[in-house]
Amino acid sequence: MKNQDLKSGLFGSIGENMVAFELAKRNWYIYRPYFDTRIDFIAQKFICKTCFGDWESKHIVTCSNNSCTKSGVDLNQNDFIKNRKCRETNCLYLFPKYTQILNCPSCNQKMKIVTSQGSSNQRNFKFICKNNNCSIDEFTSQTRTCVKCKSTNCIEYPTCKICGSQIIAMNAKCSNIGCQSTDYANIFRTIQIKSSHEDDGEKIGFNFKLQDLVDDDRHFLVVYSRTFQDYKEKHNFWIMDVNEFRKEYVTSNASTEIYQNNRLHPPSSTSSTYFDEEKYNKIKFMIQEYDMRKNHISHKNKLEKIINKVDVFGKLNSKKSRDY
Ligand SMILES: [Zn+2]
Ligand SMILES: [Zn+2]
Ligand SMILES: [Zn+2]
Ligand SMILES: [Zn+2]
Repeated sequence: MKNQDLKSGLFGSIGENMVAFELAKRNWYIYRPYFDTRIDFIAQKFICKTCFGDWESKHIVTCSNNSCTKSGVDLNQNDFIKNRKCRETNCLYLFPKYTQILNCPSCNQKMKIVTSQGSSNQRNFKFICKNNNCSIDEFTSQTRTCVKCKSTNCIEYPTCKICGSQIIAMNAKCSNIGCQSTDYANIFRTIQIKSSHEDDGEKIGFNFKLQDLVDDDRHFLVVYSRTFQDYKEKHNFWIMDVNEFRKEYVTSNASTEIYQNNRLHPPSSTSSTYFDEEKYNKIKFMIQEYDMRKNHISHKNKLEKIINKVDVFGKLNSKKSRDY
């Protein structure tokens, strides 16, 4: 079947959109240059500087202490203690509202603690100083003013159950579970797409001029073709960095070397740059199944190593010398 029904300009934009879609699935943001240039689009993403994993933008509540095991971990209410902190610089008293043991903030003697059930089913703690000579009589977990200096200048101050450090809200983290990195980088790739389609001689080809090649390790060339197999439409991708592209085309072809506009053909489907979609999706589904069962970690790790090899789009994700 021919693609004569599609104008070549329209066909080119189908290739670009298909490639953009594949990259978007891998968390890249895609931008198109405003005017027609050698670069068809720019892919950008934030990555972790430590492990090069994707940097996630999501709100979590976590321990602020970098050396604590709860640092970078998404915590829930059971992992922290609700406190109230005085903001007066001459006081700064930290009041643990739901503690079982507390010394009086004024005379430092052990206080008597009485617990009761509050109206909204929350436990209410009452702290009583038994020292008759102390200025403090009693206060409760509901007391809004500073229990030491009576200032109203107080804030909610949750602390970590493990290390006692402040609990903070984070709006981004590394997507790799267990990676504690707090540093990220912004990386980008420039991409040139060559769309090819079946022309009269049943041969698939695209036009290329060597002077259009951007010589940078962050630059990639994608050859895209739309073919038909058993009446089913098929999208084919070959993803090459500049060196791979040179190896595939330039050295073997004199006319490309002398900067002529040349008619090139996609590499074969046995090329290591070819995207084997079926194989990729099969492993992807297997990994998702392991994720749902939350076991067989070693099997899952093995599959992830395999999928990294199968996914030729993944080569955009490795660190390049000019990244940072
Ligand atoms: Zn990381
Ligand atoms: Zn006291
Ligand atoms: Zn105070
Ligand atoms: Zn902690």
